[in-house]
Amino acid sequence: MKINLRVLSNIVIIYMLCAFAWWSALLYLKNKDAYQAKAEYMKLVLIAQGTVKDEAGFATFPDFMALKKKYERQEWMILGEASLFIFSLIFGIWLINRGHKVEVTAEQQTKNFLLSITHELKSPLASIRLSLETMLKRDLPKDSRDMLSRNAIKETDRLTDLVKDLLLAAKVEAFYQPFLEDIDIQELMSDIIHDFEDRNRGILVDFESPDQAIVIKGDKQGLSSAFENLLGNAHKYSFEDVKINVMLAEKDSKVFLSFADQGIGVPDGEKKKIFEKFYRVGNEDTRKAKGTGLGLYIVNEIVKAHQGKIIVSSNIPKGSVFKVILPK
Ligand code: ATP
Ligand code: MG
Repeated sequence: MKINLRVLSNIVIIYMLCAFAWWSALLYLKNKDAYQAKAEYMKLVLIAQGTVKDEAGFATFPDFMALKKKYERQEWMILGEASLFIFSLIFGIWLINRGHKVEVTAEQQTKNFLLSITHELKSPLASIRLSLETMLKRDLPKDSRDMLSRNAIKETDRLTDLVKDLLLAAKVEAFYQPFLEDIDIQELMSDIIHDFEDRNRGILVDFESPDQAIVIKGDKQGLSSAFENLLGNAHKYSFEDVKINVMLAEKDSKVFLSFADQGIGVPDGEKKKIFEKFYRVGNEDTRKAKGTGLGLYIVNEIVKAHQGKIIVSSNIPKGSVFKVILPK
């Protein structure tokens, strides 16, 4: 129905375009005819009266020159109006098609979202249910019961994270206003890294930062969640080879915070898209790691709300670097 409407409006506009071009051409020709007829009549009258003697005299006669000027002005008017109108119509077609494209993309994104969200919600629920059912049906030894409980707790955590991300995404989209306070960014990052290392035993993050404290005005909660996300991605997309380096620097009243990993990296063609809502790189490696594609969208929105920006580049020899730039 939507496509038909678009085709219909394009047909109407194209018809108007052709009709108007035709009317313009007709008007142009009729104007020329009228001018030639008027000029011819004037010439005959003036020659008959003896006011002018020949063509050369007529060409410089004031009345004829005024007529010619008026004709030329009208000619330009017709051409100008016609071009403006035709240009507006073409612009109209372009607007309609662009609007349509935006709508189709949005619809596709919502569909993708629903598909991925349904899957992400259903699979932990199914797993929790299975664990509970097994515990209920059989008289299991304590070891097995513990394992099932742990599994159910892990899946519940996954669900909680997902719901948290969904709420945060809705929040940054609708009404996120950073609550600005002085933050010692070095201290904040150290705390985040310690928490991260506690949660992921065996992984050490290499943190480089200048000696003096760097204080910025920012939203502590928002920035923490952005940095945790970037650290989480560096870990998640590194698989076995986890080498994370976080670097903090300050230059020209800007703060630079980069998260470098030596994981699977982001292909060049995907570097922009990964910040879109629900976008995940569609290869085997990424699919091995669970996620909804909301993380970087949220990070980008939070950084933007701080008048900052985030850039992704490739690390050497492999992996990627996410660099956050914030004004002080
Ligand atoms: P979520 O963070 O919502 O749980 P996610 O990690 O898939 O899910 P994002 O954090 O938005 O979503 O990342 C989007 C995509 O960008 C990921 O699916 C992954 O393909 C790619 N990506 C993000 N960070 C990295 C990284 N450090 N190395 C390689 N690829 C990455
Ligand atoms: Mg993520």
